[in-house]
Amino acid sequence: MDLKSILKTTPRYIKILADQWITTVKDFLQHFPRAYEDRSTIRNLNELIFNEKGITATKGKIVKKSIFMRGWRKIYTINFVDPIGNKWTITIFNSGFLASKIQEDKRYIIVGKPTMKFGKITFSHPDVVETEAPEETGTSEEELGTSEHVPIITAQVPNVYNTWRIFPIYSELMGISPGWFAQKMRKLIDRVDTIFSEYLPREFIEKFWLIGVQETIKEMHYPTSFEKQKQANLRIFFDRLLRIQLYSLINRNSYQLNKTNMEHETIDRNIVKEIIATLPFELTNAQKKVIKHITENLHEPKPMLRLLQGDVGSGKTIVAAISAYYTFKKYQGQSVFLAPLEVLAQQHYRTLAKLLLPLGLRIELLTGSITKSEKDKIKLDLAEGRIHVLIWTHAILQESVAFKQLQFVVIDEQHKFWVRQRAFFKRFWAPHILQMSATPIPRSMALAFFGEFDVSIIDELPIGRKPIITKIVSEKEYIKLKPRILDKINKGQKVFVVTPLIEESEKLEEVKAATTEFEEIKALYPELRWKIGLLHGKMRPKDKEEVMQDFKSWKICLLVSTTVIEVGIDIPEATIMVIKNAERFGLSQLHQLRGRIGRADVQSYCFLETKNKTGDIGKRLKAMEETNDGFKLAELDLQNRGAGEILGTMQSWESDIPLEILSDLKFLEKIQEGAKWLLEKYPKLEWLHELKKYLEEKMGDILA
Ligand code: ADP
Ligand code: MG
Repeated sequence: MDLKSILKTTPRYIKILADQWITTVKDFLQHFPRAYEDRSTIRNLNELIFNEKGITATKGKIVKKSIFMRGWRKIYTINFVDPIGNKWTITIFNSGFLASKIQEDKRYIIVGKPTMKFGKITFSHPDVVETEAPEETGTSEEELGTSEHVPIITAQVPNVYNTWRIFPIYSELMGISPGWFAQKMRKLIDRVDTIFSEYLPREFIEKFWLIGVQETIKEMHYPTSFEKQKQANLRIFFDRLLRIQLYSLINRNSYQLNKTNMEHETIDRNIVKEIIATLPFELTNAQKKVIKHITENLHEPKPMLRLLQGDVGSGKTIVAAISAYYTFKKYQGQSVFLAPLEVLAQQHYRTLAKLLLPLGLRIELLTGSITKSEKDKIKLDLAEGRIHVLIWTHAILQESVAFKQLQFVVIDEQHKFWVRQRAFFKRFWAPHILQMSATPIPRSMALAFFGEFDVSIIDELPIGRKPIITKIVSEKEYIKLKPRILDKINKGQKVFVVTPLIEESEKLEEVKAATTEFEEIKALYPELRWKIGLLHGKMRPKDKEEVMQDFKSWKICLLVSTTVIEVGIDIPEATIMVIKNAERFGLSQLHQLRGRIGRADVQSYCFLETKNKTGDIGKRLKAMEETNDGFKLAELDLQNRGAGEILGTMQSWESDIPLEILSDLKFLEKIQEGAKWLLEKYPKLEWLHELKKYLEEKMGDILA
């Protein structure tokens, strides 16, 4: 039966529901309440608690009712007497349909938040439900009530669905009221058993202590207790995360079905030693450890899927470069470095060229800003294997390119990339993939969203780095920094001024903020004049590159920038950063930005400017003063602002998982274990089959 006839509602409502992807009874029943009210206890008038947050219900008989109009609002004043004889005047504000129906001499339950004003009890928009229930106490209504303790009545009243229980509160949906949902759900709830059936094996349900699907749906709408509702909720998130885990595993398995054409050979340590010998510094132990992980993976017949996390400045690029070199020396394999921004691609190009050209590798840069003939030449050389390492920007990934033997892909700043890129590379016989991220992701979250990756962490900064000193400053204090800033510049150091982040949709605003700041700084620092530069996302790649070049080469020593500098830019002489309106950023992002300085052995300073030094915002920012540990800050972000802060844009089916769950490592491990178990033990499960199909549709050719 279709939704319309089951709900007996108008085409308009059906359309509103359809806009929310609710088109079947199943969908409808999976539209869960946003909150619950405890209506399971009814209080007498003398027991009502005022100004409390929760909802209370009272019941009794209306002795007299009067209606006033105030503007277009109806106000009912009723003389009400409760079962033990307390009498009181109750004011009810415009409560729509039900309130207009209330009659004298009938019994009602009033559910809402009571307040006491001028000796009158007032309910704003309560539910008013008629009740035929007989009184449970022997006390007659005419007897005058005492204020002695009277037991709370919790009798069960059939056919009154919105009291005497925990009651669901749905979000209003384009004019569809919460009450409408509550009523319709109530009617459907008895049919849940015929609409839903369990899709997980019984053995699984028992193994993981879950409650069944049917019970889950019922308890979500009309919980029999808060405890049960919690269990139902857990089941729902368990399933959602299980899907993500399964998806990760299926994805991993399917990617790894592709054998790499590397033969089993012993790892050649000399190759690594060769390149390390050319470095001007000693690798950290953490870097060495990760290089070991990667070279081991390069020798396996399955393509590597590895997530490399390392705080800003921990030296991930060099690790990737050494791996690319190894791939070439050992297997003549080609590598690709993917960068999300052209500026970063340019920088990678320079770093890698400096390192790898002397060792005989050819490196090219393929970005949107080169000419067609240059591009064609690069493509030809790639196809014929004359280029060994290609630096590529995300923007042109869709172009047709052929490789002679692509074996290693580095995706820098992975949270800006997603599955589509991986699907793209699968076309090239599934090369090894190294995803790099400087946004430290708490372990629990890495497990939830990057379950298909093995994780390596660089948890050590190169020696000699001085921790950045961070200070929160007011606008005034920021202006007063001028002599200090000039002094540093005179000493050959460089300064970033970062302007506030503005919503994605308002890119132009962001540019405006940066441009304004640029003018202000020029006025504030007349002595620097042409040495002040401006960088923002709306500039042509060529101009951006020029500004970056100027900043590197000292033509510019103070750079005003939007967050485009966030990702990966490496300028060792930059030692001061001012972040304007710092309160607009999440801690992870501030940390990312701050990571642009403190990249050499000179003491660096980060100033967080905010008009709101005291209060909650200051308190949140304080963490920046206290720690340089990106993982710690990410944990704090996860607690304060949610997962989206850390992951950037996520797919909607992942974004509404509550924090308690996302930060619960044990729970997530359990789910991952469950996914593995299920795939191994029940690979033919129909639900899994459906899931695969669903994912296929969603992700295009990934699972092909
Ligand atoms: P990130 O991990 O943030 O991408 P980079 O790879 O850009 O960091 O490295 C930051 C800077 O540190 C670069 O200038 C790089 O040359 C330098 N570097 C990397 N490893 C070391 C090391 N072991 N000792 C000293 N400097 C290093
Ligand atoms: Mg980097």
